[in-house]
Amino acid sequence: MRTLISGLGVAGPALAYWLHRAGAEVTIVERAPQLRRGGYVIDFWGTGYTIAERMGLLPRINERGYFVNEVRLVDGDGRRAGGFSGEVFRRSLNNRFVSLPRSELSAAIYDAIAGDVNVIWDDTVIAIDQQADGVRTTFERTPAQTFDLVFGAGGLHSPVRQLCFAREADVESYLGFMVAAFSLGGYPHRDEDVYLSYGEPGRQASRFSMRDDRTLSLFVWRDESGQDSAAKTLEARRAVLRQRFGGMRWETDEMLSLLETSEDLYFDRASQIHLPAWSKDRVALIGDAAFCPSLLAGEGSGLAMTAAYVLAGELKRANWDHAQAFANYERTMRPFIEKKQKAAAQFAGSFAPRTQLGITLRNWVTKAFVIPGVADLFMGFALKDDFTLPDYAM
Ligand SMILES: Cc1cc2nc3c(=O)[nH]c(=O)nc-3n(C[C@H](O)[C@H](O)[C@H](O)COP(=O)(O)OP(=O)(O)OC[C@H]3O[C@@H](n4cnc5c(N)ncnc54)[C@H](O)[C@@H]3O)c2cc1C
Repeated sequence: MRTLISGLGVAGPALAYWLHRAGAEVTIVERAPQLRRGGYVIDFWGTGYTIAERMGLLPRINERGYFVNEVRLVDGDGRRAGGFSGEVFRRSLNNRFVSLPRSELSAAIYDAIAGDVNVIWDDTVIAIDQQADGVRTTFERTPAQTFDLVFGAGGLHSPVRQLCFAREADVESYLGFMVAAFSLGGYPHRDEDVYLSYGEPGRQASRFSMRDDRTLSLFVWRDESGQDSAAKTLEARRAVLRQRFGGMRWETDEMLSLLETSEDLYFDRASQIHLPAWSKDRVALIGDAAFCPSLLAGEGSGLAMTAAYVLAGELKRANWDHAQAFANYERTMRPFIEKKQKAAAQFAGSFAPRTQLGITLRNWVTKAFVIPGVADLFMGFALKDDFTLPDYAM
């Protein structure tokens, strides 16, 4: 069984791992010239965490990860105005919760399969021709090849989805927020294992101190029309951030001035992907490409890893009858994913409340998280995974 995966983020290498375990020959094509380093930090828990455990990745993930001791919401002078102890998450999730750069998770998965799979770096799929007995795939640089199955794991802007399924504009549901994440070297303020965040109506700036004297900054702002996503160059994006966040209190201006030296700016819309079907003949989608819950859901990587396990497991169980396997993959995953997408869309507003009253209310609610049961009441729906992992004996 010759398989191609487009994208070496989280879903792609996880699917490669399980397809290889199931006996397939795997090729991955990745647009980047090499594994990405640095970048934004993700929270990792739930069924994805269990999959990582089954892959033997937890020792490395925990070694490279961070254990947030406090989420601190501050006022314009940096004084504590709300927030909660990291214990809240750990208690709800039986200590199975860690934060780490997405690139570290990606590298941990990749290292578990490097040598077992072929990787085409610095290339992309530009045409897909589904034939009766295979998928003729054309790349930008590499000569065309035929695969039995092709998987799109290229994230929110997946090229495979756009080639075989739908135009992005027809399946993207924009949540009304823009997000920017960038890392700063030598930032003068540090608070180890504390996630600090300051909000003004419609905009929120946060920071987290990392190893090697790096600090991650995350900016979220309301932009109902999505006009800011038209900024495509690094300079244009920096200009949008200066315009949106300039003059904001707390440390925001300091972060903005250092942004000029940061090269790794992530800048995108917070969007979900809703597709009527995740597969078409011999091509299937996975991770953000299929069902992006939005980065405000905070669980996209875990869901991508869960989907990778289920998709490969169903293929093995159906003895590589892809039509049957793809239908079972979607039947197993879709209700779980749709619940997560719904929760994420409802929860999104709390990242950048529209009014000062909304910010004050949010801060009070988070203070009440010390009372047993209150955090579960407000966040349990987002944290808990109502999903039983099938056992595929892989
Ligand atoms: C700021 C931010 C914070 C987040 N916080 C969290 C969090 O706390 N917890 C969490 O679980 N998730 C979080 N997420 C979401 C999480 O990162 C994604 O859900 C997850 O990475 C999805 O994995 P994926 O493999 O589907 O896509 P991605 O990780 O986006 O990987 C896609 C891969 O495809 C490659 N690619 C793209 N285009 C092409 C092409 N044309 N050809 C070949 N390759 C291509 C990309 O280079 C990339 O390597 C966050 C995301 C962001 C941006």
